[in-house]
Amino acid sequence: MIRFVGAGPGASDLITVRGLKIIKEADVIIYAGSLVNKELLEYAGKECQIFNSAVMTLEEVIQVMVDSEEKGLDTVRLHTGDPCLYGAVREQMDILEQKNIPYESCPGVSSFCGAASVLNLEYTLPGVSQSVVITRVSGRTPVPDKESIESFAAHQATMVIFLSTGMLEELSKRLIEGGYQEDSPAAIVYKATWKDEKTFLCTVGSLAMTADENKISKTALIIIGDVLSRGRYERSQLYHPNFSTQFRKGVSE
Ligand code: SAH
Repeated sequence: MIRFVGAGPGASDLITVRGLKIIKEADVIIYAGSLVNKELLEYAGKECQIFNSAVMTLEEVIQVMVDSEEKGLDTVRLHTGDPCLYGAVREQMDILEQKNIPYESCPGVSSFCGAASVLNLEYTLPGVSQSVVITRVSGRTPVPDKESIESFAAHQATMVIFLSTGMLEELSKRLIEGGYQEDSPAAIVYKATWKDEKTFLCTVGSLAMTADENKISKTALIIIGDVLSRGRYERSQLYHPNFSTQFRKGVSE
């Protein structure tokens, strides 16, 4: 059995209880060495074989999985954050299916949740934004034209932008073309929940300058939207004294 496990955003105690149990019981671990916290590997058993996928191709990763499956061993594929976002898991799962190798997934805390916790941020403030757009700027992996930054910016919903720290001039320009202002609130969160995490509150127009001045060029998320400003929002209906729910009877005004 192959188990895809989310390692969480950085801090080693942000893995799930289930994920940690799976690591402790693994015979083989293939971890994404570029971003997974190596402290998590200390929980592996003494006999566990450990591979760093940062120096492997997809074919090599699959070969390790096939070899351990033939020996009846349990393999963990440890991905950063939650494997469902930019995790390149589908291509592994498809090959495992072709080879009739069983697999399952254990979620993790994505870095976009880690970043919100660092900033004490609620992405979905009533009266401000009720949606979160998770996207990236095109890099080696192209983004379909219909998902352009400009088109998402037009919604003025909260945006969390992955994998784009090296392209902030372009990002700012496209956000502004889409409808954001130079002075719309933005944040750069570098290595959220790691010991060396850094956060910078800035504006859409000053993203590139802020990153340059602070020498941030990778492992960061860009957050855009009015939820970052300590401005006006509406209180929740759910906790309003006048609002009845299945669990609580509201009082009429
Ligand atoms: N599956 C991961 C994302 C992998 S893509 C997740 O759910 O978080 C790698 C990108 O994620 C990085 O380039 C960066 O943009 C972002 N990232 C991952 N960990 C991060 C962290 N701790 N802080 C800020 N950004 C992070």
